[in-house]
This record gives sequence, structure tokens and C-alpha cells, in this order.
Amino acid sequence: MTKETDYIIVGQGIAGTVLAFTLMKAGRSVVLIDDPALSSASKVAAGLYNPVVFKRLSKSWMADELIPFLDTFYTALEKKLGCTFHFKKQIVKLFAEEQEREFWLKKTNAEVGKYLDKTINDYFLPGLVNNPLGAAEVQHSGSIDTRVLLSASADHFRHLGCLLEEKFDTDQLIISEDHVSYKDHRAKKVIFCEGFRAAENPYFKWLSFRLTKGEILTIQLQDGHEIPFEKVINKGVFILPMGNNLYRVGATHTWDKLNDDATEEGRAELVEKLEKVIKVPFVITEHLAGVRPAVNDRRPMLGLHPEHPALGVFNGMGTKGIMLAPYFAEHFAGFLEGRNELDREVDIRRFA
Ligand SMILES: Cc1cc2nc3c(=O)[nH]c(=O)nc-3n(C[C@H](O)[C@H](O)[C@H](O)COP(=O)(O)OP(=O)(O)OC[C@H]3O[C@@H](n4cnc5c(N)ncnc54)[C@H](O)[C@@H]3O)c2cc1C
Repeated sequence: MTKETDYIIVGQGIAGTVLAFTLMKAGRSVVLIDDPALSSASKVAAGLYNPVVFKRLSKSWMADELIPFLDTFYTALEKKLGCTFHFKKQIVKLFAEEQEREFWLKKTNAEVGKYLDKTINDYFLPGLVNNPLGAAEVQHSGSIDTRVLLSASADHFRHLGCLLEEKFDTDQLIISEDHVSYKDHRAKKVIFCEGFRAAENPYFKWLSFRLTKGEILTIQLQDGHEIPFEKVINKGVFILPMGNNLYRVGATHTWDKLNDDATEEGRAELVEKLEKVIKVPFVITEHLAGVRPAVNDRRPMLGLHPEHPALGVFNGMGTKGIMLAPYFAEHFAGFLEGRNELDREVDIRRFA
């Protein structure tokens, strides 16, 4: 018997998960298809969100809209799922040179200033961290424990009977003008949220991805040293406290060998940078890699296939899925339901 649903979503990474909850909140029915054996950037991600671009010390794109939106979205989702995964944290920028410190103070009076604390801390964890030039903090930043969010969401979808844990096979998709059929499911639309695998999707491989591999370590500090849970250290690498004296350290950026193999080079690069920041011994407890669905113009990719309007895509979250997904899921859901147009900057028609 054919099962009718409003939307089939392919992929239960951060993009597919957030879109599914957004559509469900609007009263739509959803079936998610995700193969847990495939690699997922979301499961590897540190989960940080940061309204500041450190390279230029400027405001991250749309930070003023994205940060309050994600705060409301993830807080409501924690309540719905009955678990905790959203942590507000200050990112502590350790200055590498005197000019950086002066630049920071100058920028506190610029547009980005509302995110930059004016106080320079000359003695941030002096026994643990190398920072002869002092440090200052980013405000309104934080992290999402993506593994907790994704696994609690998967439990929720299983409970609702709307999660199929298998590989989606485009050969079995039957496309009509106003609906799709896939095995025994029929939906108004199928929305692909496949992360970097969209580059292999026969209907969307024309999208202009600039996929980026990233590697990340989990370490444990030795000899009883601890970084406070609500602080994230940044200097060349970030060090993100996860609890139980475990810390995520990352991340690398490479543009070849786009797979989830953790490499010796990646590990060596992170260890070298980490040893410049912290003075105490550590052990590596985990080393993972993933591929970010990054885009040439660094904007998300939302929209419908130009010839098959029953096929859609919600992707291109790049290095910032945590910040981008909630706001743009709402924007995309509004478009799918005829409430708003798509913003040209994120519409996939820019690649057509
Ligand atoms: C090392 C590293 C660190 C990162 N740190 C951060 C960070 O701190 N903050 C941040 O915001 N972002 C970070 N990112 C980026 C972030 O991971 C991405 O922006 C985000 O996870 C992309 O989510 P997605 O759902 O689009 O893709 P994915 O998470 O890759 O999810 C795609 C899903 O689709 C499924 N899938 C694909 N094809 C099929 C198919 N044919 N059938 C069934 N299922 C399929 C996969 O199983 C997967 O579950 C990091 C990435 C890496 C690699």
C-alpha cells in the first residue's frame, strides 16, 4: 500500500534534521531516509558557532539574524527532545602578536564590537596556556553537541515511525510534475540533504561545491589540568571542552582526498598547533575526519530543480551548519509552502 507524506528528506545530518523539525512544526508530514553507515560531517563537527570571523575580525555573514534564531531554535528542540546539547560559551582569542591585541581593541568600536569583549585578560590560565600577549573573549558564541542532538532526533523520528535507515537509491525514484514516488512512499517533494554526497546526485551534481575535508581530535588533559567548560580557546586551533576533561581540537582544511579517513598528516598538524598553545601533557582519545559541503561563494544552497520542481535541495552549509541550518530551514520551509520567495543569495538558481 502506498504511504502518502508531504516531504521525503534524504539525509539526517544537521541540515535534514533541522529541516524536518521545521516542516513538522508547520504541520507537514515528513519521512527521513538516512544511511547511518555513510559518513556524516555533522557527527564529526565540533559544533561551534561564532559570530566573528577571526581572520579579518569582522562580523560573520548575517550573524545578527542567525545567532538569536539558532538560540531560540535549539533551546526549543532541547525541550522537545528532553536532552541538553546547546551550550553558551565564550571563545577566548589568545593574541599571537601585539598588533592583534591593538586591532581587537580598535574593533570593539566597530560594527562587530557587540560580539567583542573590551576586557583584555593578561593572565588567562597561565599554568596551562601559552599566552604572553593576553587574551580577549567573543560573546554570544557557543556550541552544539551534534552527536547528542542527532541521536536524540533519530530516536524521536524512529518513535514516530518516519525514519528509514537505508541508502536512498535515485534509480528507484519516479518523478512527476507535482509529486514523487519512492518504493512504497509518495510525497509532494523529495528534499536532498545529503551533505557532500550531493556532488554525486545525478539531479544536483551541477551545483558548485568546493568540498573541504576536515580532521579533528579529542584529547584528554593530564595531571589534573582543566579548561573551564564555558570557555573555548582559539589560537590557530580551537580547544572545545566537552566535559569529563575531554576536549575537541580542530580542525584541518584540505581540498584533496575527500573522504573520512583520518590521516597522519592531519594528526601531526593539529598536535603541532596544540603544543604551541597548551603547556601540559595530553593524550589523544579519538581522531576523526569528515567532508564539509562547502560552496565556492560560501552561501547555503536552497531551491528546486529547474526542470523537476518536485525535487529540492537544502545543502551548502559549509563550515557553519550549526549557525545556518535553523534560520535557512525556516526560510526554505516558507518557500516550499508558498509563504515567501527565496533570497537570491542562497537560491540554487544562481548556478543555473
Ligand atoms: C572536522 C569538522 C569540524 C567541523 N566543525 C564545525 C563547527 O564547529 N561548527 C559548524 O557549524 N560546522 C562545523 N563543521 C561543518 C559541519 O559539519 C557541516 O556544516 C554540517 O555538518 C553539514 O551538514 P549536512 O547535514 O549538510 O551534511 P552531513 O552531516 O554530511 O549529513 C548528510 C547525511 O546524509 C546522509 N546521506 C547522504 N547520501 C545518502 C543516501 N544516498 N542515502 C541515505 N543517506 C544519505 C548521510 O548518511 C548523512 O547522515 C565541521 C566539519 C568538519 C568535517
